[in-house]
Amino acid sequence: MPGTHRSSWMNDDLDALREMTRTFCEKELTPHQERWAEQKEVDRELWNKAGEVGLLCMSIPEEYGGGGGTFAHEAVLLEEQTYAGDSAWGVSVHSGIVAHYIAGYGTEEQKKRWLPKMASGELVGAIAMTEPGTGSDLQNIRTRAIRDGSGDDAEYVVNGAKTFITNGAQADIVIVAAKTNPEEAAQGVSLVVVETEREGFRRGRVLDKIGLKGQDTAEMFFDDVRIPADNLLGGQEGQGFVQLMQQLPQERLIIAVTAVAAMEAAVKITLAYTKDRTAFGREIFKFQNTKFKLAESATEATVCRAFLDQCIEQHVRGELDVPTAAMAKWWTTDRLSRVADECLQLFGGYGYMTEYPISQVWTAARVQRIFGGTNEIMKEIISRTL
Ligand SMILES: Cc1cc2nc3c(=O)[nH]c(=O)nc-3n(C[C@H](O)[C@H](O)[C@H](O)COP(=O)(O)OP(=O)(O)OC[C@H]3O[C@@H](n4cnc5c(N)ncnc54)[C@H](O)[C@@H]3O)c2cc1C
Repeated sequence: MPGTHRSSWMNDDLDALREMTRTFCEKELTPHQERWAEQKEVDRELWNKAGEVGLLCMSIPEEYGGGGGTFAHEAVLLEEQTYAGDSAWGVSVHSGIVAHYIAGYGTEEQKKRWLPKMASGELVGAIAMTEPGTGSDLQNIRTRAIRDGSGDDAEYVVNGAKTFITNGAQADIVIVAAKTNPEEAAQGVSLVVVETEREGFRRGRVLDKIGLKGQDTAEMFFDDVRIPADNLLGGQEGQGFVQLMQQLPQERLIIAVTAVAAMEAAVKITLAYTKDRTAFGREIFKFQNTKFKLAESATEATVCRAFLDQCIEQHVRGELDVPTAAMAKWWTTDRLSRVADECLQLFGGYGYMTEYPISQVWTAARVQRIFGGTNEIMKEIISRTL
């Protein structure tokens, strides 16, 4: 049965983490879904609570306040978050993406300035690549960070607009992809860190979405925002595109982790429902169509799990390459869409009601084929290696 086996990358330490994480998610995530959907964001204190029990930045070195673990630690949290029926909390972006850019490219001073506060939940992180005019074609972003002055007084002046930014309403620091040299394409892109308290930074709307309703996906505007020159990640201009390409496999693996966990959850809740509901004098489960659809869905989840576990092992060893991560992202999200749709069908009209978790699995599934690089872009990446 999907979701019940112990993955090859698990160990005793991770088993204990899973148990603690499950308790946390059941208490701090599941009961608040409706309210978060209404307010279009999680409660800000959630970050502090998670920080207190050590669930933030688990794969960041201890010297910077993190847990000193590996990607497997993040995977356990993401799986448990998904099994708990939550897609509102942007912890994967905060711990799995933003913190890793800082840990991977930040100077010693930058790491010490931001990471411990991200690990405690004092700072919430976001990453802003997408703009109203461009998403997939990142080389063509229009946001600029132009250097002004020299020596210790040098600053960057940031201007532009970003959209669809996860954690957009709550973020305290934002990694912004911007052109430090607008004459260049990829070589002109740099990553700069903007603290949201700076003058000239403005949040736009929290966007209305068809799913992930409790997640604060928002617009951001930068009007002559001045940041110290040492907020440039890595300290060297023009490295942004390379930095993005190096980190994107982890972002894509994160999406695959949640996709497979969502498939496992969908099968589990649909099995329970179809064994409880009756029609024509018998359990819905006993109709051949129901059994076959669930057999197919369980197979999809099991096959995706095997590939995902292999990818997680490779990533923990530092060996997951870009095309394999792209394969995991497109394949698992594509299969999730199918599984979520088939499972929802077996709920009949109740599947279309927001109070039934299968409806949340279905709406959350749809975006997974779009963000983190669309599935078409994943195929583009894979095909280049063929
Ligand atoms: C809920 C949500 C959260 C998000 N969070 C973030 C975030 O935190 N930070 C962030 O920066 N962004 C975020 N995004 C943005 C997301 O990454 C982009 O929406 C995505 O990369 C696609 O960009 P786009 O929307 O501009 O679509 P476009 O790039 O305009 O693409 C439109 C269509 O054209 C296709 N297409 C484009 N280029 C090609 C090509 N070369 N070959 C074939 N087909 C192509 C695409 O596959 C797609 O089907 C989020 C989006 C959503 C919906």
